[in-house]
Amino acid sequence: MEKTDILIVGSGISGLFFAIKMAKKRPDLSITILTKASADSTNTRYAQGGIAVVTNTEEDSFEQHIRDTLQAGGGSCNTEIVRMVVEQAPERLQELLNLQVDFDTTVSGAWDLGLEGGHSHHRILHYKDQSGLEMERKLLRQLSRYPNIVLFEDYFSIDLTTENNCCTGMSYYDKTRGTIKHIRSRITVLCTGGCGQLFQNTTNPEIATGDGVAMAFRAGAVIKDMQYIQFHPTALYETGKNPLFLLSEAVRGFGAYIINHNYERFLFKYDTRGELATRDIISKAIGTELLKTSEKHVYLDCRHLNAKRFYEHFPSITDYCLKSGFDPAKEPIPIVPAAHYQCGGIQVDKNARTSIQNLYAVGECAQTGLHGKNRLASNSLLEALVFAHQGMQSALKTIDSIRFSTVITLNQQPIASYSTTPSIKPLKALLQKTMTAFFTTEASDINTVRNTLKKLKQKADSLFQSHDRNSFPSYIEFRNMLTVSMILLEHSYSTPEIESFTTS
Ligand SMILES: Cc1cc2nc3c(=O)[nH]c(=O)nc-3n(C[C@H](O)[C@H](O)[C@H](O)COP(=O)(O)OP(=O)(O)OC[C@H]3O[C@@H](n4cnc5c(N)ncnc54)[C@H](O)[C@@H]3O)c2cc1C
Repeated sequence: MEKTDILIVGSGISGLFFAIKMAKKRPDLSITILTKASADSTNTRYAQGGIAVVTNTEEDSFEQHIRDTLQAGGGSCNTEIVRMVVEQAPERLQELLNLQVDFDTTVSGAWDLGLEGGHSHHRILHYKDQSGLEMERKLLRQLSRYPNIVLFEDYFSIDLTTENNCCTGMSYYDKTRGTIKHIRSRITVLCTGGCGQLFQNTTNPEIATGDGVAMAFRAGAVIKDMQYIQFHPTALYETGKNPLFLLSEAVRGFGAYIINHNYERFLFKYDTRGELATRDIISKAIGTELLKTSEKHVYLDCRHLNAKRFYEHFPSITDYCLKSGFDPAKEPIPIVPAAHYQCGGIQVDKNARTSIQNLYAVGECAQTGLHGKNRLASNSLLEALVFAHQGMQSALKTIDSIRFSTVITLNQQPIASYSTTPSIKPLKALLQKTMTAFFTTEASDINTVRNTLKKLKQKADSLFQSHDRNSFPSYIEFRNMLTVSMILLEHSYSTPEIESFTTS
């Protein structure tokens, strides 16, 4: 594999949707998807709540979805982008349905629309509490219908190659063979997801290390708003776990309460919407409450809800809680806020184009202007679909005029086989502790954090040089985490109004 017309990094909803749409339009083009772990190791597969789309136009409207999105975004959304995403939603939904993705319906056959925090109407389409898993598996299944798409698992993208601010391809590490190689591409699309693994408490799986943002940054792309990390208020509190299990927003939409150790519903002190306020407000309220009481967690109370209906709606959540020793029907569930979503990222225009020519970014790694300071629940799967569509349309217009670069940058250097080095693990733990403290307490000062990050970088570099080369992918991943942490720090510093709260 030395060249491909379209190179996509990432096999979540963004990468798969982009690939399938492009393959349908242009069966003559070669489309290659690289993914650093197994095909379904993505944030996408963990999405529970669903996808926000206005389908019931008698009670709901585009204008109300737009208003809710703008309100959640705290004055920092791009209104033109918000309108584009909301108005395109029904068309993109129809495409998902055409790809055999299922959503729940009521007995009368209408969509069973969920309600989530910050939404003024029931408008969330979902498949039980496994909406992301349903999308991931159905999209992956579609790939076999397109002979011009190939997907390589365990291929770790290292860096973009550019000439005169134009992306020409990428270097990658083939974990199975233990070799670094280079692939040339005419168009490259980063769909690498978020960076929740920078923090101790996160709902994001291990792949979420911000690789795409770090690669784009090193190549000179504009990165924006990385300080706006969304913390989800209701992750199940279990000591020593990373990632933490998410108790979907939809559970609050279904009627669950958040209570403190005195069993009081305290959220109304902070916002009149109580449990249906947006995530940033609830996370901050919980943080303030924890700071006052010195407790480690608050509770999600589902005891007053109909247990049978609850189980029908939330089978995975109920099963997971029971397995962890908590029965939602009988006792309040301990919860804590956790890093959940990266609102900023690689800046793109309305066609998913980055500031580097022929380089696109789609999904959670991109900053589109939709979310502003705070993403409205269930808007991110939608954003991924809309920008995959926009990017694909834009790429269609230019692809035929783009020539492959003639420069081959890398030797095919063997590096022994892949294994996780134990040496990086304590460094990663210190990084997560440092970033969590910086984001969740007012105690950390920026210079101390900067120095810690620099020391971690020196340590990682020296370990890598002196250590056996088996550590290569985890070293590269850790280097990306440090780069993204530094960006996050610098972006936070230039935005003094950044909100902070305590999670533990
Ligand atoms: C627990 C949970 C619940 C959520 N619930 C919802 C919800 O209900 N509704 C909603 O709208 N959103 C939800 N979200 C957010 C949403 O799931 C994500 O924003 C979205 O799935 C991101 O999709 P993506 O395609 O951009 O990235 P991902 O799905 O994360 O895919 C990233 C891909 O990039 C690959 N990758 C990364 N780095 C490299 C590299 N260096 N080399 C090669 N491959 C690489 C990964 O292996 C992976 O395949 C939830 C998120 C979580 C964690």
